[in-house]
Amino acid sequence: MQIQSPASRMGLKDKLREMQCANSALLATNFYNYETLRGILNAAVEARSPVILQLTKSSIDYIGLNTAVKMARVALQEYNVEGWIHLDHAGSYELVHRCLDAGFDSVMIDASELPLHENIAITRKVVELAAGYQAQVEAELGYVAKLGQSKEIKGFTEPAEASYFVKETGVDSLAVAIGSAHGFYVDKPKLDLERLQQIQEITDVCLVLHGGSGIPSDTLKKAIRKGICKINLATEIKNIFMLSLQKNLQNNTEIDLRIVFPPAISAISGLVKNKLEIVSKGE
Ligand SMILES: [Zn+2]
Repeated sequence: MQIQSPASRMGLKDKLREMQCANSALLATNFYNYETLRGILNAAVEARSPVILQLTKSSIDYIGLNTAVKMARVALQEYNVEGWIHLDHAGSYELVHRCLDAGFDSVMIDASELPLHENIAITRKVVELAAGYQAQVEAELGYVAKLGQSKEIKGFTEPAEASYFVKETGVDSLAVAIGSAHGFYVDKPKLDLERLQQIQEITDVCLVLHGGSGIPSDTLKKAIRKGICKINLATEIKNIFMLSLQKNLQNNTEIDLRIVFPPAISAISGLVKNKLEIVSKGE
């Protein structure tokens, strides 16, 4: 049986375009298990907001590809949330292919660490493949520090290169390097909003901000006004969940996990609801 979510009838490409026109953004939240998924969906229900549910290769390996997709799809249906399932940071064409076959609505191919012509070649191949699935494709151009990588400011996305990249690949959305990084920030992050505006003016795609954890809400709002229409949130979700569990389990011998998990799920809901309210309300 094909499981479909009646709530996600609008394709993600169109939805992102709609958000961009309304000066608002979709929050793209990573989930890691049933509990984190539930925390996110509770928040989407409370905020009455659409949401993108993201999986990385590590989370797919952990949960299992079909289990992860079907769990997310059925949960979107049960919670009656408008949502899409997106593959975050795929490092290979093969992984993208497997995920599209498994029913993802959207994929990101991340070849940003390869030379430009190789990034273009693999991204173009993914765009051609995804067209057969009506799936949305995101790519990355520039250096957005991954966990464990240097957060030194280098390799920001060049507007002219972004324009060339988009034309050559036909990609729907582009993750840009403008000063954000994955993980937590040591110093207050400073986004190059002028560069963002230049990229927006010269390209015709949805722009994506990775490393959304820890960016102040006024900065997020400014970035949205300059073309960001998808904001990724992962680190803060993992962090609040684990902090809550650690706190609850101190001097606690409870073995009923159905009692142990709910406060951590609520902590995620509070965090995500707050972010949804910041990013998804148009100005
Ligand atoms: Zn990312």
